[in-house]
Amino acid sequence: MKVLVLVKQVPDTATQVKVGSDPRAIATTGITWIVSPYDEFAVEEALRIREKRGTGEVVAVSGGPERVKEALRSCLAMGADRAVHVLDPALEGADTLTTARVLAAVIQQEAPQLVLTGRQAIDDDTGAVGAQVAELLGWPCLSWIMEEAIAEDGATVRAGRQVEGALELFDLPLPCVLTAQKGLNEPRYPTLKGIMGAKKKEIKELGPGDLGVNVDGPQLELVRLEALPPRPPGRIIPGEPKEAVRELVRVLREEAKAI
Ligand SMILES: Cc1cc2nc3c(=O)[nH]c(=O)nc-3n(C[C@H](O)[C@H](O)[C@H](O)COP(=O)(O)OP(=O)(O)OC[C@H]3O[C@@H](n4cnc5c(N)ncnc54)[C@H](O)[C@@H]3O)c2cc1C
Repeated sequence: MKVLVLVKQVPDTATQVKVGSDPRAIATTGITWIVSPYDEFAVEEALRIREKRGTGEVVAVSGGPERVKEALRSCLAMGADRAVHVLDPALEGADTLTTARVLAAVIQQEAPQLVLTGRQAIDDDTGAVGAQVAELLGWPCLSWIMEEAIAEDGATVRAGRQVEGALELFDLPLPCVLTAQKGLNEPRYPTLKGIMGAKKKEIKELGPGDLGVNVDGPQLELVRLEALPPRPPGRIIPGEPKEAVRELVRVLREEAKAI
């Protein structure tokens, strides 16, 4: 079974994000880039499917600038068989639908039986691309999955998503799109052998025109990013607990108007 995983490269979670000189983008100097964590669950699940079935192929796909190849190398080091990088400067700041159109065109070329994505990318947090890709392909989509089991004949998948106090179980025909939630699995660390082996694996580069997608006219335009005002400093209420609690309640009621 061929499984295709959509992977977005995002700033490391420890990055102190700052608005750049162009207020529509963040300042990228000094940023460490990583595979979006939810996409790591998706890659891990794809590898487990291949291992469980004893056959198949895992293809990692990412759209973005040259640096995105590092994210794809990480997926190859984890165990993906090969990767596809869509590189098109015209798509800088592309909205989710444009991105989804590009990714759907890659999926049509590759014709996998299953597409896995993260539930959302941890930088822009829109959580839209997986569902949009499925809609463009006319495939079923289940978001935020916590478990999946593909039927032996490879025709259907049973997948579960956690809701308040329960697990909802769905049966979907393949091909379909599943978006991964934390808890689906524990992503593996690449081994040294995996890292070395990744250098020899193929990253196919697709440029403008290779996909025949019309990427004009994004539906969403980012106006600007605004830094949040700094948080006011904390306040310690001194004194004996009894008086301090009385004062705390007064402050919460009269000043903060929180109670
Ligand atoms: C060829 C190309 C070049 C691009 N170049 C730039 C650029 O230079 N600068 C810039 O700011 N933006 C660029 N973009 C757009 C950007 O990377 C995002 O894809 C888009 O904004 C959607 O991100 P999101 O966080 O809103 O997605 P979400 O909907 O939150 O993501 C959900 C899931 O969809 C998948 N996904 C999302 N984006 C991608 C992606 N790009 N590739 C593979 N899987 C993805 C992941 O599995 C992710 O977990 C480019 C997009 C493409 C296709």
